[in-house]
Amino acid sequence: MILVSSCLAGLEVRYNGTHSLNNKVSRLVEENKAVTVCPELLGGFSTPREPAEIIGGDGEDVLEGRAKVVEKSGEDVTDLYIKGAYATLDKAVKMNATTVVLKENSPSCGSSTIYNGEFKGKKVVGNGVTSALLKRNGFQVISEKQLATNNY
Ligand code: SF4
Repeated sequence: MILVSSCLAGLEVRYNGTHSLNNKVSRLVEENKAVTVCPELLGGFSTPREPAEIIGGDGEDVLEGRAKVVEKSGEDVTDLYIKGAYATLDKAVKMNATTVVLKENSPSCGSSTIYNGEFKGKKVVGNGVTSALLKRNGFQVISEKQLATNNY
C-alpha cells in the first residue's frame, strides 16, 4: 500500500484551500492502492492557513533543533510541523507503507526541494520535515514527479 499527499489526490487541503491534483496519484487512490495523508492537518492546522517555510536549514535540521518552521507573519510553528511528521510516520508504520509519494517543495512534504525561507519563491535542495522523518525511518519517499517515471 502506498501513502500519498492528500493534496496530490485532489483534496483541497493546501494552505490556500486549493489542491495539487496529480492524475496518477488520484488513480492509485481510486484503485485502493493508496491512502491519503496531510501532515499539516495531522499537526493541528486547518485550511486555509498561513504559508510557512523552513528557516535555517531543511527538515533534517528542524528535527535536530537547528532550524525552525515559520509562518509568513513570523509565527514559529515548528512544533506543529514536528507533530504532523510523527503522526504521518505513525500512519506509515501502521499501514506498512511500501512507498510514500509526497508533494514536492512543501515544508512538510518536499522530498528533493523546499522553499528557502525567504517567501520569495526560491527553492533549495532539501527535505520537508515529514519527508526527513520518514526517510530517517527507512521509508522510500518520492515526489509526484518521480512517480511519473515509476510503474505503479
Ligand atoms: S502538508 Fe503535504 S499533503 Fe498537506 S497540503 Fe501540504 S503538501 Fe499537501
